[in-house]
Amino acid sequence: MRISFSGSSAPVYGQLSGAMAQFRTRFAPSPTGLLHLGHAVSAFHVWKAAEVAGGEVILRIEDIDQTRCKPDYEAAIYEDLEWLGLEWSGEVRRQSDHCEDYQHVIDTLAARGLIYRCFRTRKEVMAEMDRAPHSTPAAFVGGPLSFEEESERIERGEAFAWRLSLKAVRETLGNQFDTLGFEEEGEGWQQIDLALFGDVVLARKDTPTSYHLSTTHDDALQAMTHIIRGDDLVSSTSVHVLLQTLMGWPTPVYRHHPLLLDEMGKRFAKRDKSRTLRAMRTDGVSPSEVRRLAGAA
Ligand code: GLU
Repeated sequence: MRISFSGSSAPVYGQLSGAMAQFRTRFAPSPTGLLHLGHAVSAFHVWKAAEVAGGEVILRIEDIDQTRCKPDYEAAIYEDLEWLGLEWSGEVRRQSDHCEDYQHVIDTLAARGLIYRCFRTRKEVMAEMDRAPHSTPAAFVGGPLSFEEESERIERGEAFAWRLSLKAVRETLGNQFDTLGFEEEGEGWQQIDLALFGDVVLARKDTPTSYHLSTTHDDALQAMTHIIRGDDLVSSTSVHVLLQTLMGWPTPVYRHHPLLLDEMGKRFAKRDKSRTLRAMRTDGVSPSEVRRLAGAA
């Protein structure tokens, strides 16, 4: 089943009727390299959870960064998952086919004054953060330019990113701003401190969306009830919950699993070529051995 925002009928976010309103989760890799053992760990967590709950898994290709994503890597994702015996439901959603959906969210947030155009270079952002009192490296708080300056720079064709205005968000949400959080399965309620995030980039200069925006949009559009992913993404969840709140989308239950570490205690990365699933397959490793290595046997 394919649920898409493109086309004439308005989407219904986060709602599936009747029998469909069950445990629904997704595996959402980015085709920027071959899948490795760390991805297999994540995939096994996702499929296991769906199996236990009698739910389903959707496959989503998160390829908004067209400078780094490659069709060959996407093809390899299908091949590797099939080799591992992991089947997904319905059609695959490829994010790069749906840029207008993400633009619609940007337009909505801009019309509500919740985001602003940011023309700053990385260097300028760093310099401003250095000057700001009590700033932490991750938290940049800027603000829009004057209407005149902004119009001039747009006219000159200068590139800009869209940043969430923490100030506008605080004003819009009122008391709710300090009580936002999410349910982490097995851990309970997690309170969010939005001040740690500053004015988050929601669309980049070179890509008219961002991971945060497109993932959160798609999780709502595809009616995810559970998000299962590595604990490297736990801080992103705060931004996702904020977006859900601003857009009126439901917040799923989250489960962040520990990452697989190598012998040096470092997380697996795409550069660890010997541990790609393709290399393992070529070396004669069996899918059940991959399961064992991933701690899922
Ligand atoms: N596309 C992301 C990645 O490959 C995962 C996104 C998510 O699970 O939210 O790291």
